[in-house]
Amino acid sequence: MRLSVAPFDLVPEFAFNIATGGDLNTSHHVLLCLEYEGLTGMGEAVPVTMYGQSRAETMAFLESLRGHDWLKTATPFDMQAFWSWMDTVPGQLPAKSALDMAMWDLQGKVLGQPVWRLWGLETSQPFESAYTIGIDSLDEMQRKTELALGRGYTILKLKLGGDTVARDQAILTSLRQCVPADVPFWVDANTGWTFDDFVQLLPVMMDTGVALIEEPFVAGVGANRRCEAKHLAPMPLVADESCHTAADVVAVREQVDGINIKLTKCGGLSKAWPIVHTARACGLQVMLGGFVETSLAVTAMAQLAPVADFLDLDAALLSGNDPAEGMRWAGSRFTLPDVPGLGVCLTEPLGFQ
Ligand SMILES: [Mg+2]
Repeated sequence: MRLSVAPFDLVPEFAFNIATGGDLNTSHHVLLCLEYEGLTGMGEAVPVTMYGQSRAETMAFLESLRGHDWLKTATPFDMQAFWSWMDTVPGQLPAKSALDMAMWDLQGKVLGQPVWRLWGLETSQPFESAYTIGIDSLDEMQRKTELALGRGYTILKLKLGGDTVARDQAILTSLRQCVPADVPFWVDANTGWTFDDFVQLLPVMMDTGVALIEEPFVAGVGANRRCEAKHLAPMPLVADESCHTAADVVAVREQVDGINIKLTKCGGLSKAWPIVHTARACGLQVMLGGFVETSLAVTAMAQLAPVADFLDLDAALLSGNDPAEGMRWAGSRFTLPDVPGLGVCLTEPLGFQ
């Protein structure tokens, strides 16, 4: 296989803020191509600053692989050898995920099958994803919410936890006034709340139709409190920042009802698949999510949509300069491409080298 790469800066449609802060308003990615027997597999590396990852580090790692003998002689089906090698390399999850993605894309293209079919999955029904409203002034959050409703989004995920409990209460009550009762809210506090914050907010969340809560607690909240919160909340609690690997799933299983899988957290589709099954074995539900990503990475994650309970795959809908097309959207609903590989094509030349 021959590797080529292209840097890409993804810019969101609207300014995007969450409780943990950081600049989410330009995201520095690497798109890559693996060529094999006249076919091209594509992958996207999504370095996340919060996890200490950077495009420079990702590019340097990919450059170091380019002339490697293994890559020159391997086929896209050599997954065990690929991961036996990659598991010896510390970190580099964005690059590993992108390479794994490109290998799955190639496998599908060689076999003439969509990637979801290689796993025996069913995609006859459309899927439904949440659409995220980032932290902003109340007026701006209202404006974005009305815009989202106008675009046909039927699950709204609200970023909270950025300021005070009173402000989160105000966001929930004021947005509910402009959102029909049949459109559920999901809430993502991104580790923004203490246990007391959570207890104060729970009645308001119940009154305003919050159907799911993601990563409520600051890191210092202990396991007993987290278990207590799970028993207090009638809606599912989902671990995101506190759950990256299959081992993390086992560690948090008593504290949450579900886990959020992201390719950059786990290292790729090949790593996501066993995490799904670990979660099932622990009696947990599965959410699929992502960071700020193009349609390439989102459509890759969406290949597993048939086995998920909750989908938060709006990253490409939030972007202002998506250079790719993949899954097909109608409001919050999407269908997966029924074509070989991931079913993603680029809509602009990116200058792969
Ligand atoms: Mg989250």
